[in-house]
Amino acid sequence: MPLAEVQHQPRAVEALKSALKSGSVHHAWLLHGPEGVGKELAAVCFAQALTCPEKPMEGCGVCSSCKRVKGRNHPDVTWVMPEDEQVQRGLAGRSDFDHTPSRDIRIEQVRALGERLSFRPLEAKHKVALLVNAHAMNASAQNALLKTLEEPPRDTILVLVTSALDKLLPTIRSRCTKAQFGPLPVEFLAAQLKAVLRRGSGQAAKKLTDEEASQAAAMAGGSLQRAMELDPAAIEVRREVIERFEALVPDDARGWLAFAEAFGDARANAEVALEVLGVWFRDVAVAQVGQGGLINSDLAPLAGVAAARVSAASLHRRATLLDEARNAITQRNGAVRLQLERMLIEMMTTA
Ligand SMILES: [Zn+2]
Repeated sequence: MPLAEVQHQPRAVEALKSALKSGSVHHAWLLHGPEGVGKELAAVCFAQALTCPEKPMEGCGVCSSCKRVKGRNHPDVTWVMPEDEQVQRGLAGRSDFDHTPSRDIRIEQVRALGERLSFRPLEAKHKVALLVNAHAMNASAQNALLKTLEEPPRDTILVLVTSALDKLLPTIRSRCTKAQFGPLPVEFLAAQLKAVLRRGSGQAAKKLTDEEASQAAAMAGGSLQRAMELDPAAIEVRREVIERFEALVPDDARGWLAFAEAFGDARANAEVALEVLGVWFRDVAVAQVGQGGLINSDLAPLAGVAAARVSAASLHRRATLLDEARNAITQRNGAVRLQLERMLIEMMTTA
């Protein structure tokens, strides 16, 4: 079954599988979760299952139908994504549009989809629409889609894929069955990156050593895409973030403020710093129980020192404070530097 390709997403995969198994698949699905964790792959596998003549409602992955779904040229599977995404993926050229390729999914695209779905399937039992970056629909496009969601044409399954659930109208969300995807485990990301290195292809292969691959995985926030795209400069920052954090002491407020200033100048930098610290706290906890398997394996001696210095309870508290800061920053509440300062003050003043 092609859905077996989607790794480390047991909840979402189970939801899709059991719908297929039941034989009555809801007409609208919303696959949501972080960028680069397998949502689009799952959507493709789901579409294969819905159209495969060899293994109906399961998919074989190898027949002509399944191959064409994956290759985006199955007549009953319609892809919708922003024009600039099509350009970035090499599916279209800038000159294919008589205007600057839009970053939104335009209302015209949604209307064209509605029209296309009004026809009967050409080959398969179902027609499937895959909306990639569904959150890129602006309000009028979403309202146009709402009509299709309310009165879906027969034998039609819509699959919306998004990493920004909150940008979809509540009326859209409530009409879809949701499948939630989570961050991928660091160990899995590291293994995937190393496999890419061994194949000697891709952007990562040119730049990263095996050791750096582990570190890139640790900093990627559970996203394979981010791990692949990580700048080696960001990996370099890892050591600096950890060493500077461990040099902070409770009675030196200027030190905390300098840390917040250094990494709080831009949202992206703060996110990297928090990501690094999150993995670091995990390493320190691992060192406390005396097991091997540190992600920051090159900093094992420092992890040992830190493990002896903080209690398990305050380490846990630090992790909680870090999550709070990370949430505030990603949800764009308030100034980035202020959030870092607040986090450090709480970490340093309460043991
Ligand atoms: Zn097949």
